[in-house]
Amino acid sequence: MITPFDVLLAVYGLGVAYHLPRSRDRLVLLTNCNPTELCGGCRDERRRVMHEGMEWEAMFGDFAGPFMVLLDALAWYVKPLLPALQRSMGREPRAKCSKGECLAWTSRKAAA
Ligand SMILES: [Zn+2]
Repeated sequence: MITPFDVLLAVYGLGVAYHLPRSRDRLVLLTNCNPTELCGGCRDERRRVMHEGMEWEAMFGDFAGPFMVLLDALAWYVKPLLPALQRSMGREPRAKCSKGECLAWTSRKAAA
């Protein structure tokens, strides 16, 4: 007997599985690349990721990296809603990648 909840869980699980390698690649790229090759939006994102990474590292040590990737992938369903959520809380939505020459964008295109 398949309930709607089972379907939802399966969709969610597939989403996490789909996003895990992408989240990992994005975080690895952001933290390891030269920030001058990123656009303004991605540089902000990099700063945020590095800052959060330091906080996670204080709590989880060596597990901080995989843990951040997991958290990022687990939150995949929120991401399309984030800009609207932030606006509704009266906050500026995070800057988006301006694409073009940005390394985060060109390497994603290369991977696709
Ligand atoms: Zn960018």
